Amino acid sequence: MKRVELFAYPAWHSLSPAMQNAAFERLRIGARYLTREVPPGELPAAVAGLRDPEVLGANVTLPHKESVLPLLDAVSAEARGVGAVNTIVNRGGALEGHNTDVSGFMRSLADLKFDVNERKVVVLGAGGAGRAVAYALLMSGSGEVLVHNRGKERAERLAVDFSHLGEIRAVASDELETAARACDLLINATSVGLLREGMSFDETPLPAGQLPAAGAVIDLVYRPARTRLLRDAEAAGLVAQNGLPMLVYQGAEAFSLWTGHDAPAEVMLAAAEAMLAG
Ligand code: NAP
Repeated sequence: MKRVELFAYPAWHSLSPAMQNAAFERLRIGARYLTREVPPGELPAAVAGLRDPEVLGANVTLPHKESVLPLLDAVSAEARGVGAVNTIVNRGGALEGHNTDVSGFMRSLADLKFDVNERKVVVLGAGGAGRAVAYALLMSGSGEVLVHNRGKERAERLAVDFSHLGEIRAVASDELETAARACDLLINATSVGLLREGMSFDETPLPAGQLPAAGAVIDLVYRPARTRLLRDAEAAGLVAQNGLPMLVYQGAEAFSLWTGHDAPAEVMLAAAEAMLAG
């Protein structure tokens, strides 16, 4: 039986095993997707283990997405551009790194029928997800990308890193309301609103009165399915989307890279929804 591993630390309750195993079963591919707790010091050995012919590849999540790059034989232009890998493919013992968050996000935008061309976008958060989203937007021709982060230096670094790709700048707290009200698309790429132990999931990264006057709001959070941000956006008459489409599409692209088959995205979505409901 072939296998795909998810490297995480700490290991958390991911939806990916349910999504990927449902896809393997639907296409009758003899493979299993397993979560593996990999402490940072053990990453080199875990990556070396992926060269095994029984391994199709891996997903990589926090805190390994950046540190894994130098351990690979080749890295795609997107992963190199973002500076992070979320998918590794074992091609006959040579390890190839990809970032499917970029295309996953763009496919989720296409579902909304939102053309970013020349539009003004505000991205809240400059962590791994914020970087993938900002990169995708600039590569797709966004007019201007404005990034706000709680820790301002991280947003400034992101803007400098991507300045060669298009118009991007960091916005400070005192400029955020004006920028957000005037933008066409607002994206929450922070973990604010995420349902997790010890945190109020009714938090929002932006008060309702500061939402865009028109356009769309995407919250990359998918647990809960309707965050306070999305409920406020809907109440304001804005188009609203949660992070589930992006999660499914990044997984679907990874599946295709490992297997060479088109992924059954609807089967993966149903498996993810069943996990969230359970
Ligand atoms: P990360 O690299 O750890 O970044 C976390 C981000 O959240 C940083 O911008 C951080 O700001 C911000 N943040 C955390 N707590 C905050 C608070 N109390 N107030 C304001 N900002 C806060 O994580 P990540 O990988 O980018 O993930 C970010 C979110 O995106 C998570 O909710 C994750 O589930 C979601 N995500 C979804 C998908 C999907 O497929 N839908 C994919 C990737 C990520 P500082 O820099 O100031 O700490």
